[in-house]
Amino acid sequence: MPQPPSSTDILVIGSGNAGLSAALSAAQTSPTLKITVIDKSPKTWAGGNTYFTAGAFRTTHEGLADLLPLVNNTTPHQASRIDIQPYTTSDFTSDLNRMTGNRTNPALCKVLVNDSHSAINWLAANGIRFQLSFNRQAYEVNNRIKFWGGLALKTQDGGKGLVEDELCAVQKAGVDVFFNTPATALLTDNGTVTGAEVSIHTETGSRKTTIKAGAVILAAGGFEANPQLRAQYLGPGWDCARVRGTPYNTGDMLVIAQRDVCAKSAGDWSGCHSVAWDADAGAEAGDREVSNEFTKSGYPLGIMVNCSGERFVDEGFDLRNYTYAMVGRRVLGQSGQVAFQVWDSRTSGWLREEEYRGEVVRRIEGGSIEELAGKCEGLGLDSRRFLETVREFNASVEGNEVERWNPAVKDGLCTRGLAVSKSNWALPIDKPPFLAVKVTGGITFTFGGLAVNPETTAVISETTNEEVPGLYCVGEMLGGIFYDNYPGGSGLTSGTVFGRRAGRAAAEAVEKTARLERL
Ligand SMILES: Cc1cc2nc3c(=O)[nH]c(=O)nc-3n(C[C@H](O)[C@H](O)[C@H](O)COP(=O)(O)OP(=O)(O)OC[C@H]3O[C@@H](n4cnc5c(N)ncnc54)[C@H](O)[C@@H]3O)c2cc1C
Repeated sequence: MPQPPSSTDILVIGSGNAGLSAALSAAQTSPTLKITVIDKSPKTWAGGNTYFTAGAFRTTHEGLADLLPLVNNTTPHQASRIDIQPYTTSDFTSDLNRMTGNRTNPALCKVLVNDSHSAINWLAANGIRFQLSFNRQAYEVNNRIKFWGGLALKTQDGGKGLVEDELCAVQKAGVDVFFNTPATALLTDNGTVTGAEVSIHTETGSRKTTIKAGAVILAAGGFEANPQLRAQYLGPGWDCARVRGTPYNTGDMLVIAQRDVCAKSAGDWSGCHSVAWDADAGAEAGDREVSNEFTKSGYPLGIMVNCSGERFVDEGFDLRNYTYAMVGRRVLGQSGQVAFQVWDSRTSGWLREEEYRGEVVRRIEGGSIEELAGKCEGLGLDSRRFLETVREFNASVEGNEVERWNPAVKDGLCTRGLAVSKSNWALPIDKPPFLAVKVTGGITFTFGGLAVNPETTAVISETTNEEVPGLYCVGEMLGGIFYDNYPGGSGLTSGTVFGRRAGRAAAEAVEKTARLERL
């Protein structure tokens, strides 16, 4: 097994999107520098959480004409049928402010939004293949393909394709990547970070060694795969959340950076991104085959009830991209940490094939609502109360003009008089056959992280409030952007935007030190 070097110019810890963006940017800023990426996971788990993504990138743009040159899956005929509204800096900024209750750090938010478009262009120029996200982000309505929710781009083959393309780009740029190499400590000299202690595999087991570096970039993910830290920071019950992605993001480098250099924490340490997730999925890690398909994001098209048969969330309070990241928390808050999503045949045909086809989820089907209720009872549902809930729901939407129903916009078809409203897309659930699936809460990533200088991502010290020389932080580890909720597709954009800045800043700092030493 190849061993990492004992010294390098820049050491990147973590090989997901943020780490690979940082490594590529560093290599392009100073092609003579030696850039090394290490990752704790074996190669079979390459790509961290990034591998599991849908590859959705949120970016500002001026409309379809701006996006078409970036994508490889749209014919001119198809393009003539597409409606995509421009997504401006003010749209992206106001989405971040709205989602986070105005708590997003304004300086970080500004960088993320302002750099988003150039970050995508930069990835595309480096061989990352983009596509329009027809299946996830558009509905065909009145013979027009209407994109909604400010998110139109994804990478070809989702996260799998993204990781493949990014690894190829860094390899072309001369960056070396080593797996099975967890960082276990940061090395310092008089307050400056000078490398990392790592554990490496040997024929007789593993041993500790050091990698000296002119700068270290932390890109090792959050603590979503660590049940103990989840319970500690997110609260009771979170230890039982299902992990959607890599099992290797256990918060090591957050703890290590705080321990070794007093890195200052920032952001929402009790907050995270969590979705409605297949109740039959594994607990401790995502599945690299099924991947993101365990997500169950079709609740705006129907209703969701807990085991007591009660609705507990407004399934239609906003477009899915603005609600899905907090629905997991709501499901985990229910008895048994599970819920049932339910549709009738009016809307079940609009569910996304990749999330709801029989091969990836246990579909519970009934020719009548009573039959469906009976089948769900065997899986823990109070069927009597469920039937009452459906009756009350149907009565509350009487008079809604069914022909106005439109999943591509907030159509205003709402319930009236219910304790828990449904604000959009509310139709009676009365047209057989009926469908239900059982869901739980799946955790995606944690929001709490380290404080950084937004211009460079240099890590800030808790004790001095100054930058820790030689240390940068990007991706899920960077705190202060997301609070409570999250506009879909912002995590990958953040990783690339700040990864680019970190790589550039680290390379320039290392070059500068080398110049000074030569004087
Ligand atoms: C199922 C799923 C779907 C998602 N879909 C999207 C989407 O479509 N769009 C979007 O924007 N976001 C999405 N996200 C969120 C997205 O994954 C993250 O925001 C982003 O990929 C994080 O990138 P990262 O580089 O910070 O972390 P990661 O990609 O997780 O990389 C971190 C790496 O650090 C390594 N590591 C951890 N500890 C150590 C250590 N001590 N030493 C060395 N290495 C270490 C890990 O092994 C891992 O490989 C999704 C997440 C999941 C789980």
